[in-house]
Amino acid sequence: MDEVICLGIESTADDLGVGIATSEGAILANEKSTYTPERGGIHPREAARHHSAQVGSVLDSALAKAGVGPKEIDVIAFSQGPGMGPCLRTGATVARALSIYLDVPLVGVNHAVAHIEIGRLATGAEDPLTLFVSGGNTIVTGYEAGRYRIFGETLDIAVGNCLDVFAREAGFPYPGAPEVERRALKGERFIPLPYVVKGMDLSFSGLLTSALEKLRSGRYRVEDLCMSLQEVAFSMLGEVTERALAHTRKPELLLTGGVAANRRLQAVMRAIAEEHGAESYVVPLEYALDNGAMIAWTGLLAYLSGVRTPVEESLIRPRWRLDEVEIPWLR
Ligand code: ATP
Repeated sequence: MDEVICLGIESTADDLGVGIATSEGAILANEKSTYTPERGGIHPREAARHHSAQVGSVLDSALAKAGVGPKEIDVIAFSQGPGMGPCLRTGATVARALSIYLDVPLVGVNHAVAHIEIGRLATGAEDPLTLFVSGGNTIVTGYEAGRYRIFGETLDIAVGNCLDVFAREAGFPYPGAPEVERRALKGERFIPLPYVVKGMDLSFSGLLTSALEKLRSGRYRVEDLCMSLQEVAFSMLGEVTERALAHTRKPELLLTGGVAANRRLQAVMRAIAEEHGAESYVVPLEYALDNGAMIAWTGLLAYLSGVRTPVEESLIRPRWRLDEVEIPWLR
């Protein structure tokens, strides 16, 4: 079969990404532009405005980097959900326009599936239990009978969001989670904070509220709070992940999503994998944060399995759950 080339557009939140992937598993380009809020968290409409202003130049640089012309693109993929409505809508509009203009098929991709698939591609993991942790998601998942099943997830905010909000209140520059990680290394005294695991699910909002109260009280060293926040959050993730690994007996453990960049979390996951005789994998940094390459690659997997998204079925799906998606390429 001839090589197939897919261009993927990621636009679920603050990152606008354009990636180009081939059916041989090569990533030819992975370009992005990130919206940075002037203050506070992400404002969806402002982020969408950023994406529409930048999409032309990000597309141009992805094509130039890949060394392919628009006519060589065989498939257009886009992140159809889950994510912020205005941001998703901007990416979907561009994807539909490109698909019609170039007269090539369109494939809507689930963002969470894409985080797992780029992790599998980049690390070589085949059938991992996956911990997907980002600003918007906290999910423990594994493939079983045609879908990625969810074994555990957050009941409220995502762990990345918990770290980001704490960092913002502590006055760290955006995005603040990497600074929380740096400060945590200087932590000396553990400060007890709420640890909330309910069955296989997690809750981070009480943990965040308590950490913020302690921060505002001025009675604690910020480094101690950073360390304690990370230790409690990552222990919670560790408990659920370990239980899922023990029950599924998956031979591999994959850490993916933006929070996968955290070295302390990587160490916790490595220890769990070792304990259970599983191979431990961490998605490389360039593919940990939201990116277009993961959409292009997952779009290709879907396309090669016969998936198509006609324009009239390409409405965005802001609440599209991971376990609603058929995964025909793993059957
Ligand atoms: P989603 O993938 O859910 O749509 P997102 O846009 O937040 O959301 P990513 O780009 O995958 O997703 O991840 C960004 C998240 O990763 C942010 O919450 C950010 O703070 C977090 N992050 C980045 N670096 C680190 C780090 N060193 N330690 C912990 N968290 C980190």
